[in-house]
Amino acid sequence: MRAGFPDFRLGNVLATSFTGTLSERHGTAVERIPTPQRLVDWLAVNGLAVDSCTTAQLGLARELRESIHAAATAAAIQEALPASAVHVINDRSAQGRAAAILTPEGKRRWRLSSASCVEDALSVIAADAISIIAGERDGKLALCASPTCQAAFFDTSQSRTRKWCDMNTCGNRQKKARFHANQRKNTRSAE
Ligand SMILES: [Zn+2]
Repeated sequence: MRAGFPDFRLGNVLATSFTGTLSERHGTAVERIPTPQRLVDWLAVNGLAVDSCTTAQLGLARELRESIHAAATAAAIQEALPASAVHVINDRSAQGRAAAILTPEGKRRWRLSSASCVEDALSVIAADAISIIAGERDGKLALCASPTCQAAFFDTSQSRTRKWCDMNTCGNRQKKARFHANQRKNTRSAE
């Protein structure tokens, strides 16, 4: 981890891990990819290593991120998908040349067309977003129950009743808030 930058929140789903690089959208927002280098770091952690990233490419990445966020949110609450978001997602998906590679160990790896092709990496993320928004994968889009977060996440739990985008952050915070509220109630009733 690089000092001075907020940590990444890593989930199992590429597209929603990516939208999670901006968190607390309805509170005090935390930008987790504030510089091109931090996007390089994030991509490396997610199996999409690139050598470098320009400010313009970071701009494309953030535009894609907010488009996925908007489309996934609409899908989660069963509203019409915003046309502009769909447009950006499709553009990014179409403009990358990443190839899925099967390793001898039977794992999938992404091969980008060149070492600094952020566009290729973004196309993989866009395609991942399309697969979850289009309902191609086993799971359900939902919104985080934390009022300051409300992030769209992909619920793959068996009961499809997950409430928070992330148990370690939003889930814990909610549990703590409830605990303190109960304590206040208990003190009051003891008085
Ligand atoms: Zn959340």
